[in-house]
Amino acid sequence: MEEKIALVTGASRGIGSQIAKTLAKKNIFVVVNYSGSKEKAEQTAEEIINAGGKAVVYGCDISDFYATEDMVKEIVKQYGRLDILINNAGITKDNLIMRMSEADFDRVIEVNLKGAFNTIHAAARQMIRQKSGKIASVSGVLGNAGQANYAAAKAGIIGLTKTIAREFAGRNIQVNAVAPGFIETDMTEKLSDTIREQATQQIPMKKFGHPEDVAEAVAFLTSDAASYITGQV
Ligand code: NAP
Repeated sequence: MEEKIALVTGASRGIGSQIAKTLAKKNIFVVVNYSGSKEKAEQTAEEIINAGGKAVVYGCDISDFYATEDMVKEIVKQYGRLDILINNAGITKDNLIMRMSEADFDRVIEVNLKGAFNTIHAAARQMIRQKSGKIASVSGVLGNAGQANYAAAKAGIIGLTKTIAREFAGRNIQVNAVAPGFIETDMTEKLSDTIREQATQQIPMKKFGHPEDVAEAVAFLTSDAASYITGQV
């Protein structure tokens, strides 16, 4: 069987780094994408390689349409295929809406929503050519005070997922999203104690999850076992 190739965006840290490691353990060759944290991306790849897996790093700001297109073209040129795309890269720029600047609204949409469009747009051509592919995006379903930009982008990811799933269903490409709730990463490290306490109270298990909890779900959705699941969150 040909080796599968996965692109994980924002795999230098947090959930993306763990998704990359989990996929690599399943004998998938992983492209570890990052935008600013080169050393951390290299660390993720090194951990994968030391554990017997295969990985390379690729720096690219996924909000840049043409840079993203070039990254995907380069992957296909180097490795001949692209089987799995994980849209994980994301940022927060929280503020109550009356204090949220236009720039902070736009940047979160650019990275968290447009970034997913950019990668899907770039990867789809190759997946259609291969007559197979799996796309998974890390999403969110709850609105949180101070996150108008983030919640709008994540709701957009759900619409994008459901639409692309229908467009690609006949091409043997499955498209799903994972909405993991609160997970211990650099992103949630920034939350105030009050917000953290309020969030914890709403979680049935009364604790935040860990990147490992999300990575296995993503790995399942991008495996052959999930070939009849598409357009789901
Ligand atoms: P994190 O620890 O802050 O990591 C974010 C990752 O995204 C980093 O690897 C970062 O890479 C990358 N990234 C940011 N902007 C990028 C860009 N323009 N181009 C390429 N990569 C970029 O966040 P996380 O908690 O792991 O979150 C990962 C995803 O899960 C995000 O989409 C987030 O919205 C979603 N999510 C998280 C939670 C949670 O509770 N943590 C809950 C629901 C959903 P660099 O450092 O190299 O820039």
